[in-house]
Amino acid sequence: MKTDLFNISNFKVDGGAMFGVVPKALWSRVYPADVNNLIVLTLNSIIAETDGHVVLVDTGWGDKQDEKFFRHVHLHDGEGLTEGLRKRGYKPEDITDVVLTHLHADHCGGCVKNSNDGGYELVFPNAEYHVSRAQWEWAVKNNLREADAFLEENILPLEQSGRLRLADEEGELFRDFSVRICYGHTQGLMIPVISYSGRKLVYTGDLIPTIAHIPLIWNMSYDIESLKTIEEKKSILQEALDNDYILVFQHDVHFECCTLTMTEKGIRAKDKFQFREIAS
Ligand SMILES: [Zn+2]
Repeated sequence: MKTDLFNISNFKVDGGAMFGVVPKALWSRVYPADVNNLIVLTLNSIIAETDGHVVLVDTGWGDKQDEKFFRHVHLHDGEGLTEGLRKRGYKPEDITDVVLTHLHADHCGGCVKNSNDGGYELVFPNAEYHVSRAQWEWAVKNNLREADAFLEENILPLEQSGRLRLADEEGELFRDFSVRICYGHTQGLMIPVISYSGRKLVYTGDLIPTIAHIPLIWNMSYDIESLKTIEEKKSILQEALDNDYILVFQHDVHFECCTLTMTEKGIRAKDKFQFREIAS
């Protein structure tokens, strides 16, 4: 197993939406808001080589939508998707598998680009695209609650390409690379768990997007079922604490990874560090 993490791009999102019922006086200490109440998040993707597969986890916003769309997203900094891969020695053609934690626009938009003939084409032409069946069925049916997050142009070309692979259950997708499936953030959120150098790395995606979201009630108002998110976080955090897993964060602007410890307030981050400190 060879693996690395890179930030595709920073973006901005409403701080209140990101922390749900938590008062701004508390969350703004960790994520200071700008004049429009926006905070900065990262879009960290994992690249992993295992057993002949070159696996990319999540692909960021992409660049298909118009200027007005991206004015709200405020993309800045980061390495870029294909540029970040290139720096690590990978061309788009080298990617054999794209694992999508879910189909919200900031996680899967980079799979599909505009083509010269006015249609769409896949950014990774040789890859299979893995999504949980629960998420796929949820995303393609009419869903008012998440309508702004599931964009047809990000999703339908995957199916039309014939390269979509739907995961029916939790378990190993590749050697040393398995997925958990959660239902609180959205139906069928896949959480990759990677065995690496004798440790397990848990890429917590939108279940625990930043270190600040480790406390059980620090959750996004985007979650479709908050109580389920709390139960799912509780269970994964306890298992991670008991087995000394490393959590890897998709959206944390301060630290990419942490280990856990039990405190009088509950499970909290212990050591916080960047992925390069453990990468091969
Ligand atoms: Zn999401």
